[in-house]
Amino acid sequence: MRKYDTIIVGGGVIGKAITFKLSEIRPHSKILSVDPHYKANGSASYAAGAMLGAYAEITIDKTNKLDLEEINFRVQAQKYFPTWLEKIKERSGRDIYTTMGTFLIANVNGKQDLLNLKRIKNELATRNEQYEWIEPSDIPNFQPNPDYLAYQGLYVPNEGSINTSDLMDALDIAIMNSGVEHLNKIVSRVLIEHDKAVGIVVDGENIYADQVILCAGVGIQKILDTTNLSTKIPRLMPGKGVSLVVSSDIPFSNVIRTPNRDFACGTHIVPRSDSDIYIGATNRISNTPGLKDGITSGEVHSLLHSAIHEIHTGFRTANIEKLYFGSRPITTDRYPVVGETSVSGLYVATGTYRNGILMSPLIGDIVASEIVGENCHIDNPFSIEKRGLSLNNIKNNTEELITNGIRDLVSFIQEPTGALPYNRSQELTDFITILTTMVLNKEQNKYEELLIESRELIERYPVAEIVPQLFYKYHQVKEQERIK
Ligand SMILES: Cc1cc2nc3c(=O)[nH]c(=O)nc-3n(C[C@H](O)[C@H](O)[C@H](O)COP(=O)(O)OP(=O)(O)OC[C@H]3O[C@@H](n4cnc5c(N)ncnc54)[C@H](O)[C@@H]3O)c2cc1C
Repeated sequence: MRKYDTIIVGGGVIGKAITFKLSEIRPHSKILSVDPHYKANGSASYAAGAMLGAYAEITIDKTNKLDLEEINFRVQAQKYFPTWLEKIKERSGRDIYTTMGTFLIANVNGKQDLLNLKRIKNELATRNEQYEWIEPSDIPNFQPNPDYLAYQGLYVPNEGSINTSDLMDALDIAIMNSGVEHLNKIVSRVLIEHDKAVGIVVDGENIYADQVILCAGVGIQKILDTTNLSTKIPRLMPGKGVSLVVSSDIPFSNVIRTPNRDFACGTHIVPRSDSDIYIGATNRISNTPGLKDGITSGEVHSLLHSAIHEIHTGFRTANIEKLYFGSRPITTDRYPVVGETSVSGLYVATGTYRNGILMSPLIGDIVASEIVGENCHIDNPFSIEKRGLSLNNIKNNTEELITNGIRDLVSFIQEPTGALPYNRSQELTDFITILTTMVLNKEQNKYEELLIESRELIERYPVAEIVPQLFYKYHQVKEQERIK
């Protein structure tokens, strides 16, 4: 019978960060790490750039209590990152490529980009962090197509990036040096006896342990579905992301990026070495119709179009070196979930969505400290207990969901070419917002009269040419709401 102290299910950045810390604070414990494919496509961690975007990831809609706690968590993770990297380098003997300084640009997304930049600047100012408004033309090696010129820049000197391949390799070496065992398999189930986790099942074999840590990214859901925990923990969805690495002789030394948009982290480039540049990234929930596992021509086209037009036209002659896809683990309310479950000895650590590389050092420390029963140097805002409370407090605000969802949908409709003419992006947003509200709002529909009016108009003038009238009418209605 195989028996360990701790089994870590999943070898992405979260699993490795937990294993790294646990093997440090409990050097003689028997740890087993289980993951079917250490470096294969599909893992979110290998598809990430990665930007360490504590601030650049902030958007104007992130205002509720848990949003603010997550921002604070990211800020603390960013401050902790250099210390963590030093330890990894020491234990692995491996160098890890990093950059410092992020340039944010406001361009094709118009007013929305600028609003996000201002919110980012306010959060930096509130925490006495450095920033500088800059002319986009002063950004080193920033040469977009003139049709996609940026109109505002913000420089964040203390926000940087890391080469994720280096990081994952170094973590692997450090963990192996600590005597952690690895099993190249898929875990099908957790063994639970009398409300306590006692091991896992792999290929029909039971492997026992005192603690089991589920950090298998989106793979966790399948395992949770075999337990009675699936209703107590927010469900996970896969946010598929595609990215690529090119080699180029344009010497980039910083991240250059737009704010988040189009449901993703915007257009961004991350230097990976003196010659390699990472271009990211798409984001679609994987059960979106038409979405395939793997990498499609459309996804690559969209990434390259954005990088070539919005960052540097010289990318058109860069060689493509690598293509990646991975599934970001997203919970149904988009916040992480970290810590022991109601099944004693069973932990989960996931839901890191777009910021898992940045958050991994703190999540690693929190979970490892919990396992050994020590206090951690950081509070855990994502514990199951707190998450339960916050889940109950988050109202299903359909109106807010429609406003944010349609805004990002219109931005997505404009990708990859960018702008719609005149004020059409706002008109389109208003038109779809009203249509969606008419369909989805369960309460008394505030557009009931408008709906009746629209039906009458169509009955009276049953020609296709009448549809633009509805388009402009709905925009007018939203304009009036904004004036009020
Ligand atoms: C394109 C893209 C760009 C991103 N950019 C950034 C960025 O710039 N900055 C940032 O901080 N974050 C970024 N992220 C997010 C970040 O990558 C994720 O939040 C993080 O990597 C999640 O790590 P994980 O270990 O939970 O999951 P994963 O990395 O997906 O690892 C899960 C592992 O579990 C294994 N597994 C699955 N099922 C089982 C099972 N049943 N048994 C055993 N093992 C199993 C898988 O093989 C996999 O290796 C990005 C993500 C993507 C996809």
